[in-house]
Amino acid sequence: MATIFTRIANGEIPSYKVAEDADFYAFLDINPLAKGHTLVIPKHVEDDYIFHLDEQTYAGLWAFARKVAVALKAAVPCQRVGVCVLGMEVPHTHIHLVPLQSEKDLNFANPRAVVTPEENARIAASILKEYENL
Ligand code: AMP
Repeated sequence: MATIFTRIANGEIPSYKVAEDADFYAFLDINPLAKGHTLVIPKHVEDDYIFHLDEQTYAGLWAFARKVAVALKAAVPCQRVGVCVLGMEVPHTHIHLVPLQSEKDLNFANPRAVVTPEENARIAASILKEYENL
């Protein structure tokens, strides 16, 4: 059975898309640590552990994540884009990209950011625009 993230990448479940290519997809986290918190996934590989990916998919995922992080930083004011791989909740490999003002912002025990649907749509559109201009 397809994972929830595969269904998101296929458009069966809605998401705030921020970037996409033939093999990878990026979208806003539904429960973000900060505005613009993004998840990056492989579209065609559902393995739930990033270090199980074949080398080509692994390298491609990180190359795609780098481009998304550049677009994210251009669209959402922050000091850095932090990177984290957890996978404790959703069994489909994904990279978290989190806009940071300080190192304290990359703590999954923190309260989550409250973002309206309108704001998420606006943020996603501005990241996508930056991504398409890279
Ligand atoms: P983890 O598997 O521990 O890396 O956490 C999974 C992440 O996916 C969490 O930050 C969730 O908020 C996020 N998440 C779960 N379902 C969705 C969804 N439908 N759309 C966007 N993000 C989601």
